[in-house]
Amino acid sequence: MSLDPKRTIADLKELRALTGDDNGAQRLAWTDTWLKAREWFQSKIKHLPVEHHYDAAGNSWTTLRGASEKALILGGHLDSVPNGGWLDGSLGVTASLEVLRHFAEEYAGRPPVTVRVVDWADEEGARFGRSLLGSSAFAGTSSIASDRVRTDKDGIRLEDAVARCGFPVDSFPEATRERNNAAAYLELHIEQGPVLERMELPLGVVLGTKGVERHAITFFGQEAHSGSTPMDARHDALAAAAKLALEIRAIAGKHKDAVCTIGSVKTFPGIVTAVVGRCETALDQRDLDAHILARMYREAQEASRRFAQEEKCTVEWSRIWSIEPIAFHPALLGFCEEAVRETAGVAHRLPSGPLHDAAEVARAGIPAVMMFVQSLGGISHNKIEDSKEEHLEMGVLALDRLAAKTARWILESSGSPRHP
Ligand SMILES: [Zn+2]
Repeated sequence: MSLDPKRTIADLKELRALTGDDNGAQRLAWTDTWLKAREWFQSKIKHLPVEHHYDAAGNSWTTLRGASEKALILGGHLDSVPNGGWLDGSLGVTASLEVLRHFAEEYAGRPPVTVRVVDWADEEGARFGRSLLGSSAFAGTSSIASDRVRTDKDGIRLEDAVARCGFPVDSFPEATRERNNAAAYLELHIEQGPVLERMELPLGVVLGTKGVERHAITFFGQEAHSGSTPMDARHDALAAAAKLALEIRAIAGKHKDAVCTIGSVKTFPGIVTAVVGRCETALDQRDLDAHILARMYREAQEASRRFAQEEKCTVEWSRIWSIEPIAFHPALLGFCEEAVRETAGVAHRLPSGPLHDAAEVARAGIPAVMMFVQSLGGISHNKIEDSKEEHLEMGVLALDRLAAKTARWILESSGSPRHP
């Protein structure tokens, strides 16, 4: 069997029928439906010359042993958000499976390098609020000691939910063993944004994942009666916050791919008859360049102090969370660009706003790269998430080309003779 991208579409549809309903995909991590999806995957590899096991953090590993122990890893995640789409994560797993089938056939079960397909556990964090759970355990960046007591909306603890699936939380750190011989990691994913569709391009080369600065910003003014307080005597905390909400557009606008969002505003006392005495906001800033990210952070701080002063208020910042930008590997970016160009004619490079498992793999020091398939309407995490089937098929073909190039590179850089 040669590469058959249509089979990937058929696999995706089969999985959708098995684990979705009228509201979309329901493969929430550590639930029965998610386990069903994983069983389905096992049924797909049954007749392939591969070994399969789950690691200590619940990541699913399918291994096609090659002449070299050096491993080319391809992956994605079968878990979804509640009422999710049919492609987010599962495209990566099913396309990787198709590439593995191709390797198995082309080399009669023994390719020059070992080829592994990983289905990361709980990429979405949709149930316990902790994204990239399995891949961060693999990378050794996991915070499982603090994450274990997280609860879902029904009060079930993370550690109990994962134990029910056979993975005691205390063993999670052992997942780092899977890094042995890992030589490169490739991930095909839908873009989940509108950039490629706007450019009318089916595929894109992902430069890396953007760094994030996420801060709680609170403006303090003075609560006062809205009838008796003259306009020029007010200390209006919302007015200062509102100015900042507009200013961040200019701050982001100076840079090509930067984004800044104030996605949450709470006012106190929050009644129509009082000037706002306290306004709590949350700011999320992202860029692929650490210097740009640091500059945007500084500019937002300066602007907030200026607006606080103008409105006779004060302002306080506290960091909620941050992560540095992760750039993908230059050699793999080059191969990805070639593969996309050979498949789609044009290779556009773009950063990823959302985080992905590939970022955790890269943080572990393993060369990694991602490829995007155009998303229709830029919509994801919703049942209407979709991509054109011809674009999905091009994605599988381009991933296969990227995998072949990367396998050759692994052999060359490990000193083994180049395979014909
Ligand atoms: Zn995803």
